[in-house]
Amino acid sequence: MKGPAPGVEELRELLRQGRRTPSELVAEVLRRARAWEPHLGAFQELVTSPPEPQGASDGLLWGIPYALKANIAQRGHRLDCESRLLAGHVAPYDATVQSRLEGAGAVCVGRTRMDEFAMGSSGEWATSGSTANPWDPDRVPGGSSSGSAAAVGAGVLPFALGSDTGGSIRQPAAFCGCVGLKPTWGRVSRYGLVAFASSLDQIGPLTRTVRDAALVSSTLMGFDPRDATTLRDSPEKEGEDLDALLAGLERGLEGTTVGVPWDLLAGRLSEEVEIEFRRVLGEMEARGARLVELRLPLARHALAVYAVVANAEASSNLARFDGLRWGRTAAGADHRESIRRARAEGFGEEVKLRILLGTFVLSAGYHEAYYQRAQRIRRAMAREADEALGHCDVLAWPTTGETAFGRGERLDDPLHMYDSDFLTVQANLTGLPAIALPTGLSREGLPFSLQLTGRRWGEWELLRVARQVELFCDFERHRASLGPGGDAS
Ligand code: GLN
Repeated sequence: MKGPAPGVEELRELLRQGRRTPSELVAEVLRRARAWEPHLGAFQELVTSPPEPQGASDGLLWGIPYALKANIAQRGHRLDCESRLLAGHVAPYDATVQSRLEGAGAVCVGRTRMDEFAMGSSGEWATSGSTANPWDPDRVPGGSSSGSAAAVGAGVLPFALGSDTGGSIRQPAAFCGCVGLKPTWGRVSRYGLVAFASSLDQIGPLTRTVRDAALVSSTLMGFDPRDATTLRDSPEKEGEDLDALLAGLERGLEGTTVGVPWDLLAGRLSEEVEIEFRRVLGEMEARGARLVELRLPLARHALAVYAVVANAEASSNLARFDGLRWGRTAAGADHRESIRRARAEGFGEEVKLRILLGTFVLSAGYHEAYYQRAQRIRRAMAREADEALGHCDVLAWPTTGETAFGRGERLDDPLHMYDSDFLTVQANLTGLPAIALPTGLSREGLPFSLQLTGRRWGEWELLRVARQVELFCDFERHRASLGPGGDAS
């Protein structure tokens, strides 16, 4: 059992040739998880007996093991979002993404840790315990999809799902050396995802390769009658002609226009991240891409706008957790006292901070000054990005301004913590699809990541450009030496 688990494509081939059975694959994942978990802490739950895949063996993901982030409903399993407030809550139904994956024959083997209610950038706000970065146990894996990114980055399993409200798929993907895709808002059903900020939330895959991200997201994407915000008429015929769509990913970079907003990046990148970014851009250019410099003056306000919009929506979404209907109950003299106590004892500090900020920006007298204004800037920001993508095929910048930071380093410094989302929140505010992919390792052996943002509903074109970058970066070679506890076992 040397090296990481094979990726989705490779496993499909092994299964197709009959060289592996689904239960063997699950057993391998569990063996890897056992070796890694003492160092990693990526899972809140792992299966004990391997479930059998559903459907016929020609299902797109038949027999492929995966894990779900702890805020995605899976019938009969805990759905606590790593919050004491939801301790003991069991999901009564499956999220649509879970039904779709199961319907394609994939096998869920566990649930991954996350920051409480998906609020965080380091995986440290989890009640079941924090998660380490597979490349360096003293660094954070990023967040909030911390466990999904760490498990996939370590090669414990071929893919996992995450959710992304302000970067929670892409930023941990960047820190852990995974591919992470946030689809266009409305492309993947959010039915069964515990809402954080509904106008920003999207579910997406964390994988090892871009082609694997394409395979998994083709299963996730599509209209869902249970989520009225999903797009009814897909620009591509989903499910149909997948082979042609996958073949399209192999088209080279000739004639591809890549927009780079250097004004946004000035002073925001560490020296090594900037050097790596320039190297990757140079390689893209050498392969026929045309680089154009553009300005996105509004994007620099993305973090401030996000802080208003995300917290406002969170305060409203989290109002339902009253300790009466779900999870933790607390005894009080009356109704109000019970609710107050359940929320005071159940929510963690970071979640309370967000609820307070969100309630403040929505309160009478401040609503116009903060919330309405943020909404106006948000709309203008979306126009600005759509316009830029009118003359570029993709926008490019690093996923994060730095590599993974140290564990414990930012727990007392929320503003510094939020800062690591500076380059990811724009895609949520604009609704555009964005992908993070690993490009190389720093001197300290930590992954670098490139982020590409595509046109609305333009996932396949985005995946194509990412695939072409992946080909010359060949990041997989680095993972071969990764082992539990830092040794190459
Ligand atoms: N890290 C960001 C936050 O803390 C994004 C979270 C997310 O995307 N769920 O809000």
